[in-house]
Amino acid sequence: MPTTPHPTRGVTQCGRCGASIRWATVIGSGQRMPLNALPSPMGGYAAHTTGSGGLLVRELTRDRAEPEYLEWKAVAHWSSCTGGGSGQQPRATAPRARPARRRPTVQPPLWGQPGGPRQR
Ligand SMILES: [Zn+2]
Repeated sequence: MPTTPHPTRGVTQCGRCGASIRWATVIGSGQRMPLNALPSPMGGYAAHTTGSGGLLVRELTRDRAEPEYLEWKAVAHWSSCTGGGSGQQPRATAPRARPARRRPTVQPPLWGQPGGPRQR
């Protein structure tokens, strides 16, 4: 049976976009990663709260593709963070205003122009 995380406990705000997130520790690597505070069926991670209030997360793999026991499906916040940051595309900037196009000035053909490398 899927579980849901505590609605407020452990929830903090993303420093970049202000969304509600939870910090979790990746099982195995011990890395910290931000998860969206709300579970999502689209999540690629399974998270569960430890007895001491910590949050552990693992990536859902093919052989363990569904949350088990107390786990809930979590979304890595960096995949939905709108504040930019590492691993994200730089924010799209408005196309630069182009200078108004001028009609090319018609030049007379250059006949026998003087100059250039001197002939031997
Ligand atoms: Zn964010």
